[in-house]
Amino acid sequence: MTDAPLSAPDAAAPVAKPGIMAIAPYVGGKSKIDGVAEPMKLSSNENMLGAGEKARAAYEAAIRNIHIYPDGRASKLRAAVAEHHGLEPERLIFGNGSDEVFALLNQAYLTPGDNIVSGQYGFLAYRISALANQAEVKSAPEPDFKATPEALLAQVDDRTRIVYVSSPSNPTGSYNTPEEIRQLHEGLPPHVLLVVDEAYAEYVTEPDWETSFGLARDSANIVVTRTFSKIHGLGGLRIGFGYAPLAVAEAIDRIRLPFNVSVPGIEAAVAALGDAAHQKASRDLIHTWRPRMTQAIRGFGFDVLPSAGNFVLVRFADAGRAAAANDYLNSRGIIVRPVGGYGLPDCLRITIGTEDQNRAVIDALSEFAAT
Ligand SMILES: *Cc1c(COP(=O)(O)O)cnc(C)c1O
Repeated sequence: MTDAPLSAPDAAAPVAKPGIMAIAPYVGGKSKIDGVAEPMKLSSNENMLGAGEKARAAYEAAIRNIHIYPDGRASKLRAAVAEHHGLEPERLIFGNGSDEVFALLNQAYLTPGDNIVSGQYGFLAYRISALANQAEVKSAPEPDFKATPEALLAQVDDRTRIVYVSSPSNPTGSYNTPEEIRQLHEGLPPHVLLVVDEAYAEYVTEPDWETSFGLARDSANIVVTRTFSKIHGLGGLRIGFGYAPLAVAEAIDRIRLPFNVSVPGIEAAVAALGDAAHQKASRDLIHTWRPRMTQAIRGFGFDVLPSAGNFVLVRFADAGRAAAANDYLNSRGIIVRPVGGYGLPDCLRITIGTEDQNRAVIDALSEFAAT
């Protein structure tokens, strides 16, 4: 035991299940720049207006009850979500972020050797827990930065258990029309789950986007997920949900941790759902600045993909230029998201922020373009 690396497997030590150490750990958006006291963090698609007043007040009031275990069924939040979206409460699955809903679905439906299918640039959270269940991940090519029904269906084989699409998608910002989602669903064998991740639903303006709640209502194999992390500004509280066929919700209820959503989280999420003014302000901010940022950055000669989310994906000439732009933005106290981990090393994803933040990004990229 002299020169062995610390993490080398040792027959006498516990060894993680096959495949686990081969998983690349998730790296979240960076939040610090050396020497900058308060950087502008535009790297994780958070709501730069913060949480609304109502959610904050509910969170503060909940401090009186933090010694009490949460209601394991999150009944109050369940009723509020069901009412808000017109969904059957018993078909809802709550999780520690929608990330946990994906992990629970993977845990419940994947056995070793099964696979999930998602787009080439699909959200990385789907794959990590799939790999943890010793399943494989199959990726459909997205030559136009969009997962199409044809390409996804071409990846489906007899070991496929779950197909994941996000609409709008992160990091590309593309989305699927209801016709495309329907076509995908119709092409799937009935035992394959289709998960439609609608984390950015509230930011869409395109008239040919539609929620898949309606399609899911009459289907036995569609789960639609939503989150409180984006429009509601509660990323730090970790709350998301899925609208699932009853049988799926009943399966998940058997394996989830009994108290997976916290007391303050439930209270703040209920208050956020009831805060239409904050939702509108958050949406308006994106609807105002998404076209402005897209146009301004294109004006500097960089490619900006059309986005239906609260972020833009900027494409540079090559990976070196994207890295230089990232360094330049950092030097101006701005943190954005390099997306090499998604196979997009020539791109940077930039969360749309407040007016001041957006102007700072535009100014910095304008100066960078001249370098
Ligand atoms: C941000 C995001 C989510 C939300 O994740 P939470 O775990 O609910 O915070 C889900 N899907 C995509 C594609 C996202 O970008």
